[in-house]
Amino acid sequence: MTIGTESRPLRVAIVGAGPSGFYAADALFKSGVPVEVDCFDRLPTPFGLLRAGVAPDHQKMKSVATYYDRVATSNANRFAFFGNVQVGTDISIDELKLFYDAIIVASGAQHDRELGVPGELLPGVVGAASFVGWYNGHPDYTVPPVDLTVNAVAVIGQGNVAIDIARLLASPMDRLRQTDIPEPVLSVMAGRQIRTLHLIGRRGPVQSAFTELEIKELTELAGWKVVIDPAVLTLAPQDEDELAHPSNSKARKNIAVLREIAMKQTPVEPNDRVIYLRYLESPVQILGDQVVSGVQLEQNQLAGDPGRRVAIGTGKRVTVDAQIVVKSIGYYGTAIPGVPFDQQSGTIPNQAGGVVGDSALFVAGWIKRGPKGVLGTNKPCSTETVKTLLAAVPTLTPCLTPSSDKVRALLSARGVRWVSYADWKTLDEVERGRGAVLGKPREKLTTIASVFEALES
Ligand code: NAP
Repeated sequence: MTIGTESRPLRVAIVGAGPSGFYAADALFKSGVPVEVDCFDRLPTPFGLLRAGVAPDHQKMKSVATYYDRVATSNANRFAFFGNVQVGTDISIDELKLFYDAIIVASGAQHDRELGVPGELLPGVVGAASFVGWYNGHPDYTVPPVDLTVNAVAVIGQGNVAIDIARLLASPMDRLRQTDIPEPVLSVMAGRQIRTLHLIGRRGPVQSAFTELEIKELTELAGWKVVIDPAVLTLAPQDEDELAHPSNSKARKNIAVLREIAMKQTPVEPNDRVIYLRYLESPVQILGDQVVSGVQLEQNQLAGDPGRRVAIGTGKRVTVDAQIVVKSIGYYGTAIPGVPFDQQSGTIPNQAGGVVGDSALFVAGWIKRGPKGVLGTNKPCSTETVKTLLAAVPTLTPCLTPSSDKVRALLSARGVRWVSYADWKTLDEVERGRGAVLGKPREKLTTIASVFEALES
């Protein structure tokens, strides 16, 4: 049987309804090949990290949801959403293969990397995934992960996620109230007592993982000083070379902002609220008896060639007082039963998006290439995967039951309640309506129960 024809469209299941999943669906629909796409997500709502990862005060960025929505709505006769369906639990990969000719895993990277230092399990230590999930209303993180009525916070890592967290923690309430941060989170935020934030990088300013716009935004927060030790901006020749490399405009822009911060900064006064940008320090122990009281850092020096600079501990240690430690050192993917997984990188081994060792499986997004890049980076990534998939169509084994209704029947028989795309449109309206009353873009439904209550009513 030939698949990918008008009489027998190619059937593709996408696991994960985040940006990479939607870009994959988009590329499939634009390919000209007759195709039917069903998109599964363990959450009842689509858009993955766009909804639950992108900072809530970056609403402009969230507007890319209209693009993803168009992918779904303009292909309504050949696209289905199965929200609240966990692949691997509610339906297995082998079962999906009965209903689809190919499967694209686009499940992202949802967990925090471990630091691997003593004290990591103390109350007061929180991973970026749960902290960001909490302030974005992710159903897994409805309970405040830490007590914010503390004085000082240490954020480990200097990527854009670390900057997002610092900015949200330092933002005044009137700014936060304009976002879609859920009301229960806002009331916890209103009780913040934080006066000191440390952003701790293990390498030097040239290697800062954040980008210019994000660090600039930090300097614009009313009532906060951003402070950097000017000594770290005296660069070693290898760092000067790294900075001068034609491909390193990101670092040059960052260094310009950091030098401006250093030039304009004024001495810290006792009552100041301060964000310290710290460099060349690695956490070696999180301190505290019952709860976190600080973090011990080892001072580093850099070694290695330009572009490959690594932090080497000097043996000298310093202690930073902090009652909250946020680990923001990058995300890590989750294995799905029946799909190959590389434990080291937290990704699915693949060649141009084709999963190594299983000709029906494909992969896109962070679970394909690791947790790097902005939302738009997923577009070429998913396009590459779809190209690989389409090239493989002649060798795919046609599935035995090419029917989405049969998938629905199977899920119903198992008592799995799925959310369709039409349901999501209802939820979207409900959330926007709840938000309008409060003068904000939306008030999210943050629990699975509230989602189904809204659908029933
Ligand atoms: P990231 O950019 O990879 O940053 C991770 C940070 O953690 C780096 O500073 C890294 O230092 C540090 N780190 C890693 N392991 C460490 C360890 N064992 N000890 C101490 N520090 C450690 O990751 P991310 O912040 O999670 O962001 C993920 C991606 O999303 C990035 O591409 C980011 O740009 C993107 N993002 C973009 C935006 C935006 O555009 N506004 C917002 C959020 C996220 P090294 O450099 O030394 O490894």
